[in-house]
Amino acid sequence: MKTNRFQSIFDAQKANQFAVGNTTYKVRIAKLNALQHAIEVDYKQAIRDAIYADFKKPFLETDLTEIYPILGEIKHVKSELKEWLKHQKVQTPLALLGSSSWYKYEPKGVCLIISPWNFPLNLTFGPLVSAIAAGNTVVLKPSELTPHTSKVMGEIIAKLFPENEITLVQGEVEVSTALLELPFNHIFFTGSPQVGKIVMKAASKHLTSVTLELGGKSPTIIDETANLKAAATRIAWGKFVNNGQTCIAPDYVLIDERVKEEFLEAFKTVVSLYYGADASQSKSYSRVVNDKHFKRLQGHIENAKQHQATIELGGQVQDSENYIAPTVISNLAEEASLLEEEIFGPILPIKTYTNIEEAINYINSKEKPLALYIYSKNKKQIQFIIDHTRAGSTCINTNVLQYSNHNLPFGGSNNSGLGKAHGIFGFQEFSNMRSVLKQHTKSGIEFLFPPYTSLKQKL
Ligand code: NAD
Repeated sequence: MKTNRFQSIFDAQKANQFAVGNTTYKVRIAKLNALQHAIEVDYKQAIRDAIYADFKKPFLETDLTEIYPILGEIKHVKSELKEWLKHQKVQTPLALLGSSSWYKYEPKGVCLIISPWNFPLNLTFGPLVSAIAAGNTVVLKPSELTPHTSKVMGEIIAKLFPENEITLVQGEVEVSTALLELPFNHIFFTGSPQVGKIVMKAASKHLTSVTLELGGKSPTIIDETANLKAAATRIAWGKFVNNGQTCIAPDYVLIDERVKEEFLEAFKTVVSLYYGADASQSKSYSRVVNDKHFKRLQGHIENAKQHQATIELGGQVQDSENYIAPTVISNLAEEASLLEEEIFGPILPIKTYTNIEEAINYINSKEKPLALYIYSKNKKQIQFIIDHTRAGSTCINTNVLQYSNHNLPFGGSNNSGLGKAHGIFGFQEFSNMRSVLKQHTKSGIEFLFPPYTSLKQKL
């Protein structure tokens, strides 16, 4: 039944794709303006309320990490789109005398965007902005774990766009599975590497191109030269914003053993400044999204205790409201689950190293991270780390903020993702670079066409 409904949405969008794809930049900007107005004015409070209902995210945090980034992305795209849509002229080799060449970004066609729950608005409407800019029709499938936000987003989309242009469908895995059967022209998926593999496999059936924005463990190196107070201030924010449920959150810290204690002292001070002595009473601290993830995180803490790890901070949990205190754990055994799986919650493992090669080898023994952070004042050491590791992105002496620069490509590498988002990079993901070569009617090139006479062969 659902499959038929999705097939008819797909068919309607396919039939409409040239009407949408041949729109001018002005028409696309008008669509982006409408989306901007809905987020900035008409639905702003409804969005805040919905995300609060989903996982108690403070309004200000919603503004900072959901609403403002989307508005920033829309404004950036609006200011650049005219330029991006121009024919991009390129040189033509002399051998093709009498020809001119250019390429243009044409829309891919009918696109599917599947998004996760952790930044439910940002990670659904972010790629949508790129898709609209590139002139596509779109089916959006947000996460079932944040139903309040999905409902508001569905209302916005239904108000602004006809179904044969952009539509939002809600549902769990079987909805994604049914959608993935369809021959979309592009799929933009944000979520876990495990599901990323399912998406890529399904896409291969139709040779649909994919953008995979995935996750994993993002290491944070703190060397012996780092400003430890600044590191503590920034890491505590990067780790606990959104309750640690951020794909580019610092997953764990690798610290020079000589500065571990000093860093820990600074970190504890910062956490109590941010959230008070008891974070469960703080209005600045969100919650774990649901019971399943709460139990998963609780399991990590139990597992660490079983391995005689040291709970340096926090460790308290309240299952009545999926609360896990800001937690720091050190002296973890190598096989501890916290060092194996992406944490995606407010628990920070601290692991020490004695020399930087040891830290680098440890990182390189794992999957390529989505982000790698370096806190150091030693320029040579920073460069050495960058040159000897691989990652989707890196921040030096800060974290998470790379997401906010629309001029930087955002994405992972291999296990942490394929393809890039934001600004022109997102626009390119939703576009095909179509090459055009135009030849003058009087061109010398025909001289080389058959028959291949002996005279021609001597040339
Ligand atoms: P998820 O992979 O479980 O789900 C993401 C989406 O896929 C949801 O809409 C879900 O309904 C759908 N889905 C789930 N199982 C599916 C299946 N078997 N077949 C088809 N679709 C399916 O991820 P999540 O729990 O929502 O989000 C957390 C993960 O996302 C983390 O790994 C995190 O690092 C990653 N993430 C990455 C980025 C990024 O930009 N790189 C951003 C946010 C989150």
